[in-house]
Amino acid sequence: MNNSDEQLIVDASTVDHWANSADVVIAGFGMAGACAAIEAAETGASVIVIERSSGGTGSTSAAAGHFYLGGGTAVQKACGFDDDATEMARYLEATSVDPDHEKIRLYSEGSVAHFDWLEAQGVPFERSFYPEKNVVQPGPECLIWTGNEQVWPYREKAKPAPRGHKVAFDGEEGGGALALRILSENATACVSKVMTDTKVEALVRDGDRIVGVRVKQYGETSFIRAHKAVILAGGGFGQNTEMVAKYVPIMQSCFVQGSPYDDGLAIRMGEAAGGGLMFMDQPFLTSPFYPPQDLLKGILVNREGKRFVAEDSYHSRSSIHAAHQPEGIAYLIVDEEIFAYPRFAELTNQQLIDGFETIAEMEAALALPDGSLQATMAAYNENAAKGEDPEFHKYPKWIKPLDKGPYAAFDLSFGKAVYTGFTLGGLKVSANGEVLTEGGLTVPGLYAAGACASNLAQDSNGYASGTRLGEASFFGRRAGRHSATS
Ligand SMILES: Cc1cc2nc3c(=O)[nH]c(=O)nc-3n(C[C@H](O)[C@H](O)[C@H](O)COP(=O)(O)OP(=O)(O)OC[C@H]3O[C@@H](n4cnc5c(N)ncnc54)[C@H](O)[C@@H]3O)c2cc1C
Repeated sequence: MNNSDEQLIVDASTVDHWANSADVVIAGFGMAGACAAIEAAETGASVIVIERSSGGTGSTSAAAGHFYLGGGTAVQKACGFDDDATEMARYLEATSVDPDHEKIRLYSEGSVAHFDWLEAQGVPFERSFYPEKNVVQPGPECLIWTGNEQVWPYREKAKPAPRGHKVAFDGEEGGGALALRILSENATACVSKVMTDTKVEALVRDGDRIVGVRVKQYGETSFIRAHKAVILAGGGFGQNTEMVAKYVPIMQSCFVQGSPYDDGLAIRMGEAAGGGLMFMDQPFLTSPFYPPQDLLKGILVNREGKRFVAEDSYHSRSSIHAAHQPEGIAYLIVDEEIFAYPRFAELTNQQLIDGFETIAEMEAALALPDGSLQATMAAYNENAAKGEDPEFHKYPKWIKPLDKGPYAAFDLSFGKAVYTGFTLGGLKVSANGEVLTEGGLTVPGLYAAGACASNLAQDSNGYASGTRLGEASFFGRRAGRHSATS
């Protein structure tokens, strides 16, 4: 079936029987749905959660378990990092394409309390800091740099602080699943009902108000009435090939990660109800070339033999810049002193092209313009000898002359190396999660949170790991609270 064949809105006058009802009906039981459910129930609303799979899963279960939080959390304090809401907000403003000042202020000012809430729910966080530059800390350590806080120009716009808080889980994957298990158990204990193996297929509208949903469970169709609101929390659209081709075609050449139910249905239902869409053309995209962190001392060059990004950037920033180079060509150049295979080379197919005695040999083998790489490296090394990088202002810790031959090149080219990612765009929503039209009017009775909504994460360049779980939980809670009192 094409997306366009779906009936996404049902007129309430055609519904002759409501199988069940609650004040707030939530479609999706991932991070956003679970947090919305807890808050709505604790605010006094009756809540029905509807989940398509057999339990709370979603992309949340695949997540490493980073939450981007700051402003002086208990972990930041225990680890000796000075942070405050103003600096956190400055950073988020600087890294957003089109900063939503209200959401950034609320998130930054509410971050410490939100961390405390997660802990009070039972989500475990160690009081520990993982100092290495890595994609995910391999053990249960909590705090890590997960964004571009120390990367120029952001380090000049806001005082850097590490804000990636990983759930205490001993492994690179599993932190998201652990957090979700705890939160979904808590939600299950306080809502009226959780319907699993049940797909929300359409929204029911009465006049201009959303008043319920049509669901299918084991082949049977029925209707669930929402006295106050429906909250869409059904995740992103990375598994919908039609939507990916339409909105974010670069992802057709990527390995899209996430839940098989990331089919964009929540977004399409919200759009059919009148909701606007934001940042639908923006992917989170990555092919990390670190760890080991010493590889950050290498340089990335394009087919012109020129650098194009600060190599110490967060991996989704360097990756999106690489993907957008002419023909997607990008090479990581290292010398003997820092040579190592990228930790994820097998997964990402970042192949070692070869080792070379001289830069001139490497330049010829990579078919770069005559003299280009030699000029790039001569200039880089001259400045690096002084601990400087006037072109991209790499953090001094990652600067060293690349002059200890032999040299090596890894192929990070988009289309050769494997890039993975997920979608970032979603429904336009207020800071309270109300779905908004393109013009900014609310769609009565309809809310959205998590990956089907657009809140903080706007593009791969500014992304910091933890933003998605952070915003899904924080704005999911706000949607739950607001809908319960609407
Ligand atoms: C490998 C990987 C690692 C990641 N690591 C991190 C990380 O460490 N930190 C971070 O911030 N972000 C991370 N992310 C992103 C993050 O996991 C997601 O953005 C976030 O979990 C989305 O939460 P959600 O509640 O909106 O959606 P989901 O967790 O996807 O939940 C949506 C739920 O809705 C259900 N559903 C869908 N459609 C329907 C329907 N029609 N009816 C009923 N139910 C429906 C789904 O089955 C699912 O259970 C990662 C993503 C991936 C893929």
